[in-house]
Amino acid sequence: MENSRPKRVDTIFLMEGVDPIKVVETTIKKSPDDIILEMIDSGLKGRGGAGFPTGLKWKFTRNEDSYDKYVICNADEGEPGTFKDREILDRVPEKVFAGLAICGYTIGAREGFIYLRGEYNFLLPALNQKLDVFNEGLKKIGLNFTIQMRSGSGAYICGEESALFESMEGKRGEPRNKPPYPTVAGYLGKPTAINNVETLVYAFMIARIGTEQFKEMGTKDSRGSKVFSISGDTPKAGISELELGMTVQQFVDEFGDGDTKAVQVGGASGGCVPRKLFKDTIIGYEGIPTGGSMMLFNSSRSMYNVLHDYLEFFTEESCGQCTPCRVGCQQLLKGIEAVKRGEKSPLYLQDLKKLAKTMKVAAKCGLGQSVANPFISIVSNFKEEIIY
Ligand code: SF4
Repeated sequence: MENSRPKRVDTIFLMEGVDPIKVVETTIKKSPDDIILEMIDSGLKGRGGAGFPTGLKWKFTRNEDSYDKYVICNADEGEPGTFKDREILDRVPEKVFAGLAICGYTIGAREGFIYLRGEYNFLLPALNQKLDVFNEGLKKIGLNFTIQMRSGSGAYICGEESALFESMEGKRGEPRNKPPYPTVAGYLGKPTAINNVETLVYAFMIARIGTEQFKEMGTKDSRGSKVFSISGDTPKAGISELELGMTVQQFVDEFGDGDTKAVQVGGASGGCVPRKLFKDTIIGYEGIPTGGSMMLFNSSRSMYNVLHDYLEFFTEESCGQCTPCRVGCQQLLKGIEAVKRGEKSPLYLQDLKKLAKTMKVAAKCGLGQSVANPFISIVSNFKEEIIY
């Protein structure tokens, strides 16, 4: 893809006249072990950002000896700047349902759930209506599997898988200690395969088109394509499905406004790539991974304000369970405010970076651990905008 624009593809939203129930019917004629081998061979990795191989997740859950197992679709899309799962659920929900059903058959589950972000509750009536039809379709093809909707209440932390289980169980949404991992003890303490919305659609696509076609796209470490939520200073805000493996420069050439100075890859919890690194940074698991959010900033933006907004967000959304995150977020926020007012010397930023690095290893879950990503990248590359 060198020296070219990112390659746009259309696999997810394409309405090619294929009935998802028919794809499920054809797929479940294969053995679960064969489906797992196909998923592993495809190289599909979780599209939520962490990038765990989907086939392995299904295999681990299948290998657990339990009568009750669950499949959960994580539709708690709360990362600032991310809105592509909403579009997928709005435009092609049956493909998500079909991905859930294929996963359910593969791991040996009889129930699946879609945990929907509270702010997306306006989608519920249509989704429930479509689910009724889909569940009937599953019955007709003889698959003992039903899908239900569950709704969150607007807490960012409930996108973390174990906090999501707690929320589904009617408890306060707080991350659990790990291990055990969800494949062993997830929802109700039973083996659970939890996948993001987009991951399930790609699992469905692989079942439909086969692994070879999927593997033709992307790179060795980042197979396939991905849907990006594009926002900020861009004339092309919205969602686009692009082949993985492009550099940030190629992305900016396509979506920038000619004055892009930074790209925040992966939402508020991701890293900020400055212009000098555009050419050398690959968007993908071998470079900078992303759950799909790409925020472009031009020279009109104050990167102090960008970082300040992110830190306010994390301070607000920290569940407060562990000290490194609960106190660390507040201290980082107060720290840059003090530097900006001139009450602390610019050298204090080094202490704050050390604190962020400590949070990366000492915080209990991904929220506290990932604050270091925007903090260190913005402070290191835009120091002149942070200091007094
Ligand atoms: Fe809660 Fe933050 Fe600790 Fe996660 S890192 S458990 S959000 S306090």
